[in-house]
Amino acid sequence: MKNRYDVIIIGAGPAGLQCAEQLMNSNLSALLIEKNEIIGPKICAGGLTNLTAAFGIPEDKTRSFPRQKIFIANRQYEIDLVNPLKIIDRFDLGQYQLSKLKNSKNITILKGTLVKSIKKNEIITNKGVFYFKYLVGADGSSSKVRKYIGLESKICIGIYYEIPGVTDEFIWYINPKLLKFGYIWVFPHKSFTNIGIYFNPEYLNSKKAREILKKYLTDNGYKFSERNFKGAPINYFYQGCVFDDIFLIGDAAGLASKTTGEGISYALTSGKEIGKKIINPDYKMVELDRILTFKKRQERMSRNFGMFPYMQEHFFKIFIRLMRKGWYQSYFGN
Ligand SMILES: Cc1cc2nc3c(=O)[nH]c(=O)nc-3n(C[C@H](O)[C@H](O)[C@H](O)COP(=O)(O)OP(=O)(O)OC[C@H]3O[C@@H](n4cnc5c(N)ncnc54)[C@H](O)[C@@H]3O)c2cc1C
Repeated sequence: MKNRYDVIIIGAGPAGLQCAEQLMNSNLSALLIEKNEIIGPKICAGGLTNLTAAFGIPEDKTRSFPRQKIFIANRQYEIDLVNPLKIIDRFDLGQYQLSKLKNSKNITILKGTLVKSIKKNEIITNKGVFYFKYLVGADGSSSKVRKYIGLESKICIGIYYEIPGVTDEFIWYINPKLLKFGYIWVFPHKSFTNIGIYFNPEYLNSKKAREILKKYLTDNGYKFSERNFKGAPINYFYQGCVFDDIFLIGDAAGLASKTTGEGISYALTSGKEIGKKIINPDYKMVELDRILTFKKRQERMSRNFGMFPYMQEHFFKIFIRLMRKGWYQSYFGN
């Protein structure tokens, strides 16, 4: 196997796979490195907003939910979305993206390969040393590439239980007094239900968040087992994607929304945009700018809400009312 490539992408999540797809059939050789043997599985609730619509994810891989149930403390609201939210299992998303690379001649995929360290124009893995002209960090929220560049990360956390049994209701539970800036979600998958809590560790510690989640499950009659508990950080601290011949995409770039934790759409879009940029350095990344607008809008809104802690519940109620309008949904990226 050769060890010199024009582009090395570290991480075959949605960002890395999308970047590889963009480089497919270019005159650049690319190596996509993934530490896991199986492409796809990732700690994630699998919710897809309309920002992923351009990526052609097959309908039969998703469940679609036009109606959202929202609880603010104990009051229930409903919103009908113009563009339904969708749910996908990350294994299915990864395998769908991988299938698109099947016939590529210039992309090599190396699974079960852990990148241990990075030096100028080379990476050291458990399967040897590889050399690059361009390096793409698509290695998620604990990115080694980001650390190599010297960028700080800031994280929120998502934890969840996978509950046996399929439900049909897509639920958000908001309670600013209890959850601060976070929320509880109920995302129904095809063969189980993913119920979790998203929180900012600056305001809520992990132990307390887990207790709140367990109480929610118990109070609502969901049976859960500690074996099905999962959690991971989400880096939202965006400081750019382009650093000379090194690029960051997806969570490695801190592109996920601090407000919601949504990161798949940002990973896909940044992967595509950086792929184009590598092929043509003059390419203006307008799609990346477009999705950054949504991230900034969402984060500005929660910052404003946070300035008046005692008014938060009231603000959320106004927000829900506005979210019944199609134009407001698209203003926030759906
Ligand atoms: C609990 C939770 C729930 C979430 N729910 C949602 C949701 O409903 N909707 C949504 O849009 N987003 C959600 N997110 C966020 C979403 O999971 C991420 O934003 C998204 O996965 C980012 O994609 P990525 O390709 O940048 O990184 P990742 O998906 O993290 O992929 C990175 C890849 O790099 C590989 N890798 C890492 N380090 C190395 C290394 N050293 N060597 C080789 N390979 C390496 C990893 O194995 C992985 O495959 C959630 C996150 C969490 C934690």
